[in-house]
Amino acid sequence: MRVLIVEDEYALADVLKATLEHENYTVDIASDGEDGLEQGLTGIYDIILLDVMLPKMNGFSVLEKLRKEKITSHVVMLTAKSELDDKVKGLDCGADDYMTKPFQTRELLARLRAVSRRKGELSDDRVLRFADIELDTKSMELTNAKTGASIKLGAKEFQLLEYLLRNSSQILTREQIAEKIWGFDSDAEYNNVEVYISFLRKKINFIGAACRIKAVRGVGYIMEEAS
Ligand code: CA
Repeated sequence: MRVLIVEDEYALADVLKATLEHENYTVDIASDGEDGLEQGLTGIYDIILLDVMLPKMNGFSVLEKLRKEKITSHVVMLTAKSELDDKVKGLDCGADDYMTKPFQTRELLARLRAVSRRKGELSDDRVLRFADIELDTKSMELTNAKTGASIKLGAKEFQLLEYLLRNSSQILTREQIAEKIWGFDSDAEYNNVEVYISFLRKKINFIGAACRIKAVRGVGYIMEEAS
């Protein structure tokens, strides 16, 4: 899951980023409204944490413009306690949720897990399943549910497999994958995607799983059950 934090308080943004990364989310930060809008418009974020009072453009305007461009990222507004009407206004503009500052990171994580559940085909909080494999989103361990064989994934391998598993009914293009895993601004070459796909294939083979990452020539990749 990729998260964008739009927040001009650097200390808060950094704490949120560290907390979310600890939970294996991929996190980017924008520190003003214009930057937040520009990054949000890439459409690569599952979740956007959007502060209301921001330099250059306020959170409501950012949200309005994102929704106008049909960006469907789950948006959680971060509002200060004094901004009483913000909650209502945020929901009017198309926010999915709001949190009043200061908030407990534990509560934020619980809400984000609920979003992850709605977006994915999760059977519980932390394990993604496809064919006979299980991916533990907390420990980043990939397990063959039949034999119990397991192997730990690196951070990028994990993000890539998570993305494939959460979208197992569709082909993901190399461009989509590169943007999702390495980010819109990254200098990552598309052949990074191939390199990490090959790492993942080795690990899937290693645990003897009855599924594979199928390459669709000229298009991209999709998970496939072995027949
Ligand atoms: Ca602010």
